Amino acid sequence: MITLTKIWLSSPHIGNNEQSYVQQAFDSNWIAPLGPNVDGFEAAIQKYLDNGVYVAALSSGTAAIHLGLALLGVGKGDEVLCQSFTFSASANPICYLGATPIFVDSESDTWNISPVLLRKAIEDRIAKGKKPKAIIAVHLYGMPYKVKELREISDHYGIPVLEDSAEALGSTVGMEKCGTLGTMGVLSFNGNKIITTSGGGALVTNSLELKKKAVFLSTQARDDAPHYQHSQIGYNYRLSNVLAGIGRGQMEVLEERVAARRAHFEYYKQQLSEIKEIEFLKEPKGFFSNRWLSCILTPSKNIRELIRLALQEYEIESRPLWKPMHLQPVFDNCISFVDGTSEDLFNRGLCLPSGSNLNRDDLNRVIEIIQKNFNP
Ligand SMILES: *Cc1c(COP(=O)(O)O)cnc(C)c1O
Repeated sequence: MITLTKIWLSSPHIGNNEQSYVQQAFDSNWIAPLGPNVDGFEAAIQKYLDNGVYVAALSSGTAAIHLGLALLGVGKGDEVLCQSFTFSASANPICYLGATPIFVDSESDTWNISPVLLRKAIEDRIAKGKKPKAIIAVHLYGMPYKVKELREISDHYGIPVLEDSAEALGSTVGMEKCGTLGTMGVLSFNGNKIITTSGGGALVTNSLELKKKAVFLSTQARDDAPHYQHSQIGYNYRLSNVLAGIGRGQMEVLEERVAARRAHFEYYKQQLSEIKEIEFLKEPKGFFSNRWLSCILTPSKNIRELIRLALQEYEIESRPLWKPMHLQPVFDNCISFVDGTSEDLFNRGLCLPSGSNLNRDDLNRVIEIIQKNFNP
């Protein structure tokens, strides 16, 4: 009996210098939620994103969404439009602030928020006297949303866009990098993302003023006084200097990680091209996806499940696409503007192992099992 090594969906992939940055934190006793690694990490992200942006390193992507919404003025009783087809962390912070999410379905070109349904949702809410306070748009699996259309809508109605780029560091539209495309941007460095600090996130803004406010709120909103004085409610959301050391090393290998994940996607696509029943998401013209996860669409939920279970039997982790928020029990009572697109993607789609540390033998193991399912 041979034992197979487990193939994970997306596991951390550490480079050469992470440990030395972490060691520097130990050597200088900067084991605190701020310090030179935090500054260095923020500077590295700012340099990479370019475009004159400012970055506040935080304890998670979820914290960044929470602070981003707060800084956009979202509060109790407000409505926030949110892409339904996403991870729950995109929507949960709306509720932390006492606001209400309104979900909008996806379009099939990018799997992201549909500009058509978004307009419809805004018109409907305005007609009912409830102009939405913000829009949360997501670059799901690394594929950018329709930036031009979203900007037009945002400008036309005067509603800011919080860009959830948690899965899309390294993706671009034209010359512009994901994370810099909305009114404010959000990054995540969770363990399964394209690069990781084990846990972490960042808020991206083009205003130094807003970055300072984000840092202020993330460190308990302390007023400038020798004693501890507070004039508003703060949070404990700053990234630790130890974890930021991992992030500095990871930023040095980001482009390699993107190249590896894109190569995995192309290999799957090429090797599975004979199977006409399997579809892959194409990049619209000018769009460049980091291909965080390689996803396939199968003809039906039954076939999707057959493949998933066959992979599982051989110690391979795969996962259905995100279950849309408008179908989640916790958001049962929320208003939504949907046309069935994300529900269909959820039913038929499967995320394949995509970690940048996988090799060709690993991918071949996955591919052979899928092929067997179609040609028994
Ligand atoms: C991972 C993720 C988040 C949350 O990031 P954390 O760092 O895990 O809090 C938010 N939105 C999307 C789309 C994500 O994939």
